Formats: sequence, C-alpha cells, structure tokens
Amino acid sequence: MTRTGTTPPRRLLASIHDVSPRHEPAIDRLVEELASAGVERPAMLVVPDFWREAEIRPGSPFAARLRRWAEDGVEMFLHGYSHRDEAEHASWQDRVKASRMTAGEGEFLGLDAEEAERRIRAGRTLIEDITGRPIAGFIAPAWLYGDGAHSAMKTLGIALAEDHMRVWAPDTGRIFLKSPVITWATRTRARMLSSLAVASVARTIPLPRVVRLGVHPGDVTVPATLSSIRRTVAKIARTHVPSQYRDMVGDLACAS
Ligand SMILES: [Zn+2]
Repeated sequence: MTRTGTTPPRRLLASIHDVSPRHEPAIDRLVEELASAGVERPAMLVVPDFWREAEIRPGSPFAARLRRWAEDGVEMFLHGYSHRDEAEHASWQDRVKASRMTAGEGEFLGLDAEEAERRIRAGRTLIEDITGRPIAGFIAPAWLYGDGAHSAMKTLGIALAEDHMRVWAPDTGRIFLKSPVITWATRTRARMLSSLAVASVARTIPLPRVVRLGVHPGDVTVPATLSSIRRTVAKIARTHVPSQYRDMVGDLACAS
C-alpha cells in the first residue's frame, strides 16, 4: 500500500505560560531566549488577573503589547482567570491532586460548570477584545481540568485544549495529539532537578513527530534552567519546525 500526499513536517510547539503584567520582564526574557533558539512565535498562555493582583486592562500598555504579538501571528490561549485555586474541593482525591500537583494553582480543578463557564467567557471576551481576533483555545492552569471545566469548554465551543499528555478539541471531542509536554519546574529543588533530567533526556532520545514544550516566568530565575531551555529548544528546533498549534491541526485535516 502506498500513502498518497506528503508526510507532514516534524513540529515544535513552544509556549510561554502565565503571560501577565505581573511577569512582564520574565516574559520578555523568555521571548528573547526562545527567539535566539529559533522559536520566533511561541504560543502565549494569558492570565486575565493573575492571583487577582495583576488585571489586564484594555487600553493599557500591556494590552497593546498583547495585540502586537497577536498581530505578529502569536497564538493567544486563555490560561485560567486568576490562576489560583480558590475552590473548596468536594472529594479528597481532588484535594490531594490540587495540593500535591499544583501548589494551589489548579484554578479550574474544583470549579462547577457554571463558574467555569463564567470565567472562561469573561477571559475570552477580554483577550479577544484586546487582540481583535479569536483565542486559539483554553489551557487550564497546571493543566488540570475538573468536570465543570470540561463541560464549560464544550458549552462554549472551545476549539483547542491541552494537558500534560494530549491536545484535543473540547467542542468535538477529537484528540489531535498524544505526547507528553516538556517543561521545567523551578518551584522546588527536587522538581527542578527532575525536570532538568527530563529535558536532558529529551535532547538525546528520539522525539515524537510533534514536540510540545512549555516555559514559565519562574524559569528565568534559575540560570541552570535557562541554559537547559536554550540548549533543549535549539537542539529540537534543528529537526522540528517551530510551529503554531493551528499548523498541527492543519496537518491532521490534510491527512484525513
Ligand atoms: Zn500557569
């Protein structure tokens, strides 16, 4: 059997998490580092009011920067609303998950559908009014989605979401990609060492056709992390074309 059509290119999907006025200098640094490693347009995961202390206001200088990035082709994802887990968790499993995995940043883990819908709607409207174009999708803080979040994304017709292990379309349920995301955690020493190990493994083993990679503002505070990011991204960018999520979705549309 021969396959018709061309094989889609290997792609690198890089994203900057926690884009907020609160992290502006760190975001600039990450944009610079990624660009020097070959990634000109990383996706941005935007938080409308980080910890309820850093509201993005229409008409502000930060809003103008978001718009310029979007006009340059940067994909803007809504990334929670406050990013902070403010919910009372109903089950002990969720309480354990929330405290062990996220240090209290799993905002969308414990929200009911109504509240999740209210926050996604408000965040989406804010970002779309600022950038003048649709958001690329919704990515929950710490990649943690409760039932309420899943239901809200479906109701609101969100086109794209991702967690640690996959990228999918909440509106249709279609799964686009199953592969782990490479990330660097700097919140604790142990986690930092383990994520540096993951990144160095990622530089040596065969990589999936589409590689996802996420960086955070805290990464710029640790020189070892920053240099690991630089080396890892530059290495992957030699074999994988830095791309947008929409390119990856487009490849699959061509293939089917
Ligand atoms: Zn985040």
